[in-house]
Amino acid sequence: MIFRIFEKEELKKLFEVFVAHNRVVGAVEAGRDRDDQPVYAFSDVSDYNEIKLDYSITKLPAKRFFLPFKEELATFRIENDNWTKDISYNIDRPLILFGLHPCDINALNKLDKVLLHSVYPMPYYAAKRKNMFIVGMNCVPQPSCFCRSMGTDTALHGFDMFITDLGGRYFVEILTNTAFNFLRHIRTMEPMEEDHILYMKVVEKRKKEFTAQVDTTDLTKILDMEFQSDVWKYWGDRCLACGTCASVCPTCYCYGVEETVDINLKGAKKTKILHSCNLIDFAEVAGGHNFRPERHSRLKYRYYHKHRGFVEAFEESLCVGCGRCGESCLAGITVPEVIESIRADGKE
Ligand code: SF4
Ligand code: SF4
Repeated sequence: MIFRIFEKEELKKLFEVFVAHNRVVGAVEAGRDRDDQPVYAFSDVSDYNEIKLDYSITKLPAKRFFLPFKEELATFRIENDNWTKDISYNIDRPLILFGLHPCDINALNKLDKVLLHSVYPMPYYAAKRKNMFIVGMNCVPQPSCFCRSMGTDTALHGFDMFITDLGGRYFVEILTNTAFNFLRHIRTMEPMEEDHILYMKVVEKRKKEFTAQVDTTDLTKILDMEFQSDVWKYWGDRCLACGTCASVCPTCYCYGVEETVDINLKGAKKTKILHSCNLIDFAEVAGGHNFRPERHSRLKYRYYHKHRGFVEAFEESLCVGCGRCGESCLAGITVPEVIESIRADGKE
């Protein structure tokens, strides 16, 4: 890894280099909540002043830029007994994600394991990922983030460059040639020993700011043992089965495919729509049988996929501890509370 240092005013110049030929997406203030606190969202930006470098967390992850909620997979046309099929990977130009926090970078790394590197890679996702350049930035830990417990509070890979604010200057980690070439457009310096010391102090200070925690010790085994626990019924009774938790989750990728045929039978299309395992029809199959008709069984499934099945397949959890699901859940269901209650049930 290569490290460089640059003065704060150089970041604006770097942004202008990015935006000259690329689509740039960053966190902007989208509004204010009822306590008059800013609500942040990832959005297309062309003006550096619009970007909020110190954003806390966005309500929605950056997922819609590489795993859109709704995406046309293919269209079909029939003319004179010949049929044609058109496929578009829905990319116009390279995308730069500017200021992604470590949890969201780690979420992408997890999605890559399934959608890029598994037996059946998804070409629509792969095409977008390959046209993506990631500028990571450190965050200020929020009370609802438990990423430190999930090992996702720092990003070691999955970005092109990662910027840390040292107070007076920026410290940048460079992972790719593209990043190195971009940085040639601004004035950077070799970090000195005092910069390394300052960097380590900043990292140490941030580490102490994490407050929320989840004990994941032996979690896969505990989940196996507590499969029939009444705790699932307790949380299921509270759950509204609204599916919000999956919509705001940076790692939820389950989807369904809809096929629609034009009324004149001259055309058809296939559309991919992200789904949520908490929704009532998620496990419904042809003929109307539903494998998980009760709310508690669907909520349980979500936890078992994230913290049990994915760990078995990839040796890591499918949760990055961003806390978005708990913050958005109208029933107040949070991952730390659910996991704690399962652990407590096993101790009785
Ligand atoms: S957001 Fe909350 S209420 Fe809605 S499905 Fe998820 S856990 Fe249930
Ligand atoms: S399950 Fe919740 S805390 Fe975990 S990654 Fe998804 S939204 Fe974040």
